[in-house]
Amino acid sequence: MAKKQIVILGAGYGGLRTLRNLQKAKPDAEITIINKNDYHYEATWLHEVAAGTIEANDACFPIKDQVKGATKFIQDAVIKVNKEDKTVELEQHGLISYDYLVFALGFESESFGTPGVDEHTLPIADIPSTKRIREHIETKFSQWKTTQNDELLTIVVGGAGFTGFEFLGELTNRIPYLVKQYDVPREKIRIICIEAAPSVLPMFTKDLANYAISRLEDRGVEFKIGHPIKEATADSVIYADGEERKEIKCGTFIWGAGVRGSGVVGASGFEERRGRVMVNANLTVPGNEDIIMIGDCSAVMDTANNRPYPTTAQIAIQQADYAAANIIALLNDQPLKDFVYKPKGTVCSLGDNDAMGLVGDKALKGYRASVLKKVIDDRSIAMLGGVSTMLKKGKFQFYK
Ligand code: FAD
Repeated sequence: MAKKQIVILGAGYGGLRTLRNLQKAKPDAEITIINKNDYHYEATWLHEVAAGTIEANDACFPIKDQVKGATKFIQDAVIKVNKEDKTVELEQHGLISYDYLVFALGFESESFGTPGVDEHTLPIADIPSTKRIREHIETKFSQWKTTQNDELLTIVVGGAGFTGFEFLGELTNRIPYLVKQYDVPREKIRIICIEAAPSVLPMFTKDLANYAISRLEDRGVEFKIGHPIKEATADSVIYADGEERKEIKCGTFIWGAGVRGSGVVGASGFEERRGRVMVNANLTVPGNEDIIMIGDCSAVMDTANNRPYPTTAQIAIQQADYAAANIIALLNDQPLKDFVYKPKGTVCSLGDNDAMGLVGDKALKGYRASVLKKVIDDRSIAMLGGVSTMLKKGKFQFYK
């Protein structure tokens, strides 16, 4: 009898961790992992690539090194899943059949329909988009010398969420280098963060959120909180100030205001909201119990407050452990396990040697929090690529 086909879509946190677990379990089945690039990237480090404080290669490692034994890796872009035929449509390789599918295609930037955002802003979404941000800022700074146009030195960040803060922390660390490299006057550089909500970082205490704001303000960031962005143009941002529309001319406009699940979710006809499918308790898709959906494409209800958990790498990795176990259960015709999320705390980096976060009820700030953040980063890379990858790519060499 032909072996059952397990297909994993995406080699991010959810997909690669599922692969690792399945390879360990050695099921009597063929495993294929499909990803559009030949590398895995640590999405939680993308703000560092965007600011230029690490190189893109520092945040990546080859997928082929994680593919063991009979597992097949296909480098290709997924176009859609044909649920009825149990096939996946790929850009180059045509149709691939599956018996069981793990869908882990991650996130995309979300503009919420704000005019001009798709055309004129730079999202923090993947390796190419973050490399573009670094290059764009450097190009604008390099043009200042010949044009003396100060607007080129204004960087606007849309969104004061987790990603916005982490990016601002790195950017403020990078500025002294840019000042020297491009011979621009520090006092002419403006970094402005605009946020629609009346407060920031709701996942942390007020005290921690205020700490993050004050640390970044000390480094020259201007915050405009409670000001919805109305439009992006080729050289400006337009935001609401009460009833008024105000404009800031800028050389760079980075969009960190929101993400959604992969567009492949909608293209495949899943019932979704912003690219996320409300999955069953065991992470299967309602009506398609041969498909397990994890990571940023899935929504899992937090029964404590009746809202889906926020999408994080932490939850994607934990879901992957259940995904692998439940695929084995499906193969063996055994009952599936319900996913139980165990929050391990959240730490938000504010640049080198500074961070803040909550571990249980314990609030951490400053240097100690930044060391914990690096430990979390190293642990995550070890969970996906093993200790050898962690030793090559980990941040332990930066612990001071
Ligand atoms: P991903 O890790 O995004 O992986 C998806 C994979 O699928 C990628 O390899 C991608 O290339 C591939 N792919 C996508 N589309 C296709 C396609 N059509 N065909 C083939 N391959 C495709 N979370 C935390 O827990 N802690 C943090 O500190 C944290 N910090 C963050 C900082 C930043 C700057 C950002 C942007 C996010 C951060 N997150 C953090 C969130 C976290 O990165 C995501 O929740 C996580 O990456 C989701 O994992 P995933 O497995 O669903 O998808």
